[in-house]
Amino acid sequence: MQHPLLAELNDKQCEAVAAHERHMLVLAGAGSGKTRVLVHRIAYLMQEQQVSPYSILAVTFTNKAAAEMRGRIESLIGSSTRAMWIGTFHGLAHRLLRAHYMDVGLPQNFQILDSDDQQRLVKRTIRSLNLDEKRWPPKQAQWFINAKKDEGLRPHHLDGYDFNERTLKEIYDAYQVACDRAGLVDFAELLLRAHELLRDNAIVREHYQRRFRHILVDEFQDTNSIQYAWIKLFSGVGESQGATGFVTIVGDDDQSIYGWRGAKVENIQQFMRDYPDVLTIRLEQNYRSTSTILRAANNVIGNNQGRLGKELWTDGSAGEPIDVYAAFNEMDEARYIAGRIEQWREHGNALTDVALLYRSNAQSRVLEEAMLHARIPYRIYGGLRFFDRQEVKDALAYLRLIAGRNDDAALERVINTPTRGIGDRTVGIIREAARDRGITLWDAARQLVTEKTLTGRAANAVGAFLALIDTLEDETGDFALGRQVDVVIKRSGLMAMYEAEKGEKAETRVENLKELVNACDHFAEPEEADENMTPLNSFLAHAALESGDEQADEHQDAVQLMTLHSAKGLEFPLVFMTGVEEGLFPSQQSMDEAGRLEEERRLCYVGMTRAMQKLVITYAEQRRIYGTDMLHRVSRFIGEMPSDALHHVRMKVPAYSSPSAPAMGRFHSGASHEAFEQTGFQLGQRVRHSKFGEGTVLNYEGTGPQSRIQINFDDAGSKWLVVAYARLDRC
Ligand code: ATP
Ligand code: MG
Repeated sequence: MQHPLLAELNDKQCEAVAAHERHMLVLAGAGSGKTRVLVHRIAYLMQEQQVSPYSILAVTFTNKAAAEMRGRIESLIGSSTRAMWIGTFHGLAHRLLRAHYMDVGLPQNFQILDSDDQQRLVKRTIRSLNLDEKRWPPKQAQWFINAKKDEGLRPHHLDGYDFNERTLKEIYDAYQVACDRAGLVDFAELLLRAHELLRDNAIVREHYQRRFRHILVDEFQDTNSIQYAWIKLFSGVGESQGATGFVTIVGDDDQSIYGWRGAKVENIQQFMRDYPDVLTIRLEQNYRSTSTILRAANNVIGNNQGRLGKELWTDGSAGEPIDVYAAFNEMDEARYIAGRIEQWREHGNALTDVALLYRSNAQSRVLEEAMLHARIPYRIYGGLRFFDRQEVKDALAYLRLIAGRNDDAALERVINTPTRGIGDRTVGIIREAARDRGITLWDAARQLVTEKTLTGRAANAVGAFLALIDTLEDETGDFALGRQVDVVIKRSGLMAMYEAEKGEKAETRVENLKELVNACDHFAEPEEADENMTPLNSFLAHAALESGDEQADEHQDAVQLMTLHSAKGLEFPLVFMTGVEEGLFPSQQSMDEAGRLEEERRLCYVGMTRAMQKLVITYAEQRRIYGTDMLHRVSRFIGEMPSDALHHVRMKVPAYSSPSAPAMGRFHSGASHEAFEQTGFQLGQRVRHSKFGEGTVLNYEGTGPQSRIQINFDDAGSKWLVVAYARLDRC
């Protein structure tokens, strides 16, 4: 009789799930059940082949995917998977480093440096080397350092052939010294250090090789060099004793979208060469999307060269055509989408079933505003994370200093936040002393006060700050995490500082600080808690690693906003793909390079194949990007879709009536849009004003006699006018 775990799988999927100890590649298109196969295989290994969860290592792309995978496995097998290692490459690397901090030369309380803090530290390094920041922009140096780390390269590996590289190497070197001194580990360093640990320490390596009998990797097409080297070390392949663990990788070359960040789709072919006797399985049936959506997506991706080649079909229904909406500008686009979502909700559908996808993070603001105006709850996934917000980072910096005084980045952030009379000049003196003496900022500050190099008010203020941190640690060290954080936020003066600020933004900041205490109260330490971590340390690590998942109430029914990149692996009944314009998607930079254009096309394929029932594509003819209005043509990707799969939605032609139309609002969609058109104007229309001359209608807001209209005048620029008084003529 067939095993129940194989019941809801097709023949090929069964073969992959039940394969006996072998290396395996599952290569298949979107929605063909690759992730499902991985989950079922893990459950099957445990139930049917008596593999202990302790011997399984599963790698996914996001924390959310890892949590989902764990949940799905547990519900399949009906028991806990605590002993199993499931996580992202970064999460797993972090775990390794915590367990073996001594072997890798890190202090026990090392802290993770997020991208923002990293950039700040790079900037400081550049300054300390007396280099010109304009000539050596911190962002570029940061990118260089991370790219080298992703390739497994330390400064001494670089030959510094030309002047450019020699200087970047110098920055990299000095930056690394600063990190090591302060016990800071950036994201790329997590991977590199964990890799070096496994590579250079035979005892540790053999321990994990004995432990992990099965290694399974989802989204393999987006692994970079160091990640792939990791998998090899864990599985012992290429070493004298031969493979110690069996590796299953699943992936889709058509969904490789992180080439720009060093991912190597060639790792798929490399895997075939490195591993002996690989069982390759291709899945061809798509279970996710309607045949219309699938056909359009297949057409688009068909324009790429050099694909590994896969068939994808579905026996699902044709469903509805893909709607394409040509918006006049980004506000009109957002308004249209809000209207569609309102209709969706009115039909009794759930908001969590809706995703709004965009190419660049900056696009989210206008979409967010439209959701707010239409009172549609939304959640940003992977965007500005709760833990990235200014006030939360301030509080975290206090906590990091309490956890370890050597954290220079944290000290810089809060030494004068809230202001306590420690000016830039004093901080500069401390920085200089730290550099000259090769010590941390904390130690430098202490020495300067003790030896009376700092005097007067500056010395008092710095001394008080040092004492504050010491006292906070002494007094709150034994408290429960939530209470500790609550006290720290108040005693440090942060809460009072934000409470004293005016306005909505300040209110949100206070709420966020409260929410942080809340988050600490509800923080469950990771399973298999490491004895090397205090609750505070594990919370700080969680804050640095977690992405997006914490920011909104998980259980609220809300639309999900995210970039196309972070939508990978997910699926939603209704998907909006926005900003599908030349210059934005494909992005301007990608248009001159064939390789990058193909990566954009794969991103388009990823976006389209997230949709289960309905896909809506929107583009704006005019869009404000970084402060400039840009006119864009419709994206070539829409042209690559079969026209009979598309339904072009047109804006209604307005009928003229009186200006006192009912219920208009800047972001009130649907009916209000029509109400606006009843004023006799429409977005994009040319109008003439007696004083300002000719212009184009950009936007509108308000109702009745108060309704206002925004016009971009050819000579006078953009202006808001009250419709009732503006006496506009249509051109
Ligand atoms: P992606 O490439 O986007 O990551 P994937 O190949 O990992 O996609 P899954 O997410 O595993 O695909 O599966 C897509 C959808 O199809 C899921 O809802 C899954 O439950 C469903 N599915 C997969 N296989 C089957 C099957 N044999 N019978 C019914 N539904 C299935
Ligand atoms: Mg998947």
